[in-house]
Amino acid sequence: MAQYSIGVDLGGTNLRAAAISRDGEVLSKIVGRAELSLGRDAVVDDMVSSITRLREQCGDHDLVGVGIGVPGFILIEKGVIVGSNNLPEFENYPVRDVIEQRLGTHVFLENDANAAAMGERWMGAGKGVDDLVLVTLGTGIGGGIISGGKVLHGFLGMAGGMGHMTVGPRGNPCGCGNQGCLEKHASATAITGMARMMHLGTNPTSEDVYNMALGGDEKAKEIFVIMGRALGIGLASLVNIFNFPLFLISGGPLPAWDLFAPSMFSELKRRSFTYRKTQTRIEKATLGNEAGLFGAAYLGAPQEQNH
Ligand SMILES: [Zn+2]
Repeated sequence: MAQYSIGVDLGGTNLRAAAISRDGEVLSKIVGRAELSLGRDAVVDDMVSSITRLREQCGDHDLVGVGIGVPGFILIEKGVIVGSNNLPEFENYPVRDVIEQRLGTHVFLENDANAAAMGERWMGAGKGVDDLVLVTLGTGIGGGIISGGKVLHGFLGMAGGMGHMTVGPRGNPCGCGNQGCLEKHASATAITGMARMMHLGTNPTSEDVYNMALGGDEKAKEIFVIMGRALGIGLASLVNIFNFPLFLISGGPLPAWDLFAPSMFSELKRRSFTYRKTQTRIEKATLGNEAGLFGAAYLGAPQEQNH
């Protein structure tokens, strides 16, 4: 059997784990519910038992490591999570070391958006590209920066927080203390928020708004134009700062690409000299929810063996 690593993706609703070979082949996969309401110990137990099951299926001998992607900031050196709204009980708990001890194998803990960026770089739309940014549009906006083939962490592990980049100095207030954050204007939550303000349905999901726009609803279409504009403003800064060849967008609103991309690109052209003068690509990510799983598995493997 081929050498493999195990990737774990702990999300708000699902806990997913997969054994993935060094070539990126999924050998086995487990999808379960993330029982966050049962508390920290139950979640840790679930992670450990998922990993153990995969290890039993695929063989102890060929396992080279485990990577775990979780929401929140990760203090990379310490292997702890700080500031995760989904996982308050994990705050400053040595989760990496606890899991490592229980499994007796190398564990790497990473922020889920960073893991997703690495997943796209390994097996998705960023295959073979050493420098890229992934922007994920979800409840909030997360992102990961891959520079020189590695996750850019910053000095503690908090880099890549493009969701809180200011795109409008007098924009919507954000839980982070700022106002006009990108995620307050371009996330799935921002789309539904605008829909509510425009009285589109009672409690529409971003998919509902998308379907209304497809059906020709002018207000719904306008929402995606506004959202694309905010995204374009954010991307212009990212393109200017990084001069990377590739910027990927993922997340729930991605199917609405044709509705938001025109205003995104026009804003980008207007605001970024670098974008106008280079062959910078802005593209859809291709792995969807799987990106985090692939990235976690990739990062779980000892890095010197990666290529
Ligand atoms: Zn913010």
